[in-house]
Amino acid sequence: MQRTEIIAVGSELLLGEITNTNARYISLQLSKHGIPVLYHVVVGDNAARLKETFAKARERSDFVIVTGGLGPTNDDITKTVLADLLGRRITRDEASLDTIARFVRSRGRELNEGDRRQADVLEGCEVLANPVGLAPGMWLDDGGTTWLLLPGVPREMKALVEATFPQKFSGATLVSESLRFYEIGESALDDAVSHLMTGSNPTVAPYAESGEARLRISAKATTESEANEMIAAVKQDILNRVGAYYFGSDEDTLATALLRELERRQSTLSVAESLTGGRVQAMLTAVPGASNVFRGGVVTYSDELKNRCLGVSLATIKSHSVVSKEVAFEMIHGLIQLTSTDYGLAYTGEAGPVSSSGRPVGTVYIGVKTRRGIDVIERHYPHQERHVIQERAAKDGLWALLK
Ligand code: ATP
Ligand code: MG
Repeated sequence: MQRTEIIAVGSELLLGEITNTNARYISLQLSKHGIPVLYHVVVGDNAARLKETFAKARERSDFVIVTGGLGPTNDDITKTVLADLLGRRITRDEASLDTIARFVRSRGRELNEGDRRQADVLEGCEVLANPVGLAPGMWLDDGGTTWLLLPGVPREMKALVEATFPQKFSGATLVSESLRFYEIGESALDDAVSHLMTGSNPTVAPYAESGEARLRISAKATTESEANEMIAAVKQDILNRVGAYYFGSDEDTLATALLRELERRQSTLSVAESLTGGRVQAMLTAVPGASNVFRGGVVTYSDELKNRCLGVSLATIKSHSVVSKEVAFEMIHGLIQLTSTDYGLAYTGEAGPVSSSGRPVGTVYIGVKTRRGIDVIERHYPHQERHVIQERAAKDGLWALLK
């Protein structure tokens, strides 16, 4: 499996109606087995273009995974097109037909031709039984190319991957950990770990996304524990250098990291939001078990509600602007009066696109309450879109409590 390619079939993918999450999932699973993917291809339900795509894949790849188009409808043409290209016949797989018949009859229906067609497979393939659906997968060695055909429905595709990959790809395991950092620029991070980026095993690769930076460490070894040890050593080296900016790994977010830390401290948290419109509280409550720490909060968008809910004085708003250090201070003060939590965040800012507060777009003040007291931090995100300003502000507040 030197040259692996994933082809997702479906016009709905090209139209942008759905995202090609199948390719992402399959790539992630392959990488666990040390198999790099060279191409992701998306092609519509069109016989000529599909054939052309398959022909190209056969030329340049030795392992081709196709997802989608195995179903019973007329636009499901993956099997017939591939059979045509490889000069193979389509045969009906009796075992699959049995399973399909039993399933259909259990629903009180008789088998129709569409159902039967789902049991059609390419001659000479290994049929991969579908544990959660009707259309089976197929594994086919043809000349120098191995083809793996998987259903498009994500749940079925995953079930088949889980059943197939461990059995087909035992041997080398690839283990990865993504270290996540905040407030350190990608280039500063690069500089700090450049000495690690030249190795080929483990590898260290950086990437950045909306204010965050990540380093992905991948190690290949014969056993998982061996790979884990290699990763642990590199991780320690990295944390010795830039640990101050690290907040978690893999699926961690600033919210999960903060909630975990405050739970460890047996502390409580509340939030008052204006420009972020509830985003911060949504980030926190997206985490299961958030209620152990997060007590709740308010979204006070108008001056009037800032006054009524949080006791922000209208005179302060008038004399300093609603986007001001003073208002952020009164908001966080009022919030803690209201909720009595150990920690708190209060946001006011100008998200744009035009300023309604008299402050430049991208100006944000965040009231921060910790056990040490109340502080207000000031942030500027010039030339950013509204949603970016909201997102960055939300995260900067969470980070302020975390670091
Ligand atoms: P079915 O038996 O349902 O027809 P199929 O194998 O023919 O399955 P498709 O018809 O191509 O698969 O896709 C079924 C559904 O699965 C699509 O409507 C879409 O929601 C989802 N799907 C297909 N391909 C992908 C993909 N690459 N990524 C994410 N979802 C997908
Ligand atoms: Mg289909």
